[in-house]
Amino acid sequence: MAVPKRKMSRANTRARRSQWKATAPTLTPCPNRACGALKPPHQACPTCGQHQGRQVLSV
Ligand SMILES: [Zn+2]
Repeated sequence: MAVPKRKMSRANTRARRSQWKATAPTLTPCPNRACGALKPPHQACPTCGQHQGRQVLSV
C-alpha cells in the first residue's frame, strides 16, 4: 500500500476539510393529490404510504 512520504501540513488538512459540507436531501412533492407532502424520490411516501399510485405501506 502506498504510504505518504511526509506529514501533511495543518494548513493543507484544514483546506481539505473546509470543503467538506453536508448537502440538503432531495425532496419531491408526493404525487398523491390528497397528500402532496415532500418525500425522497423513488421511495414510498412516509406520510400516505403510496408509491406508483398504489398503497404499499400501512399508515
Ligand atoms: Zn404521500
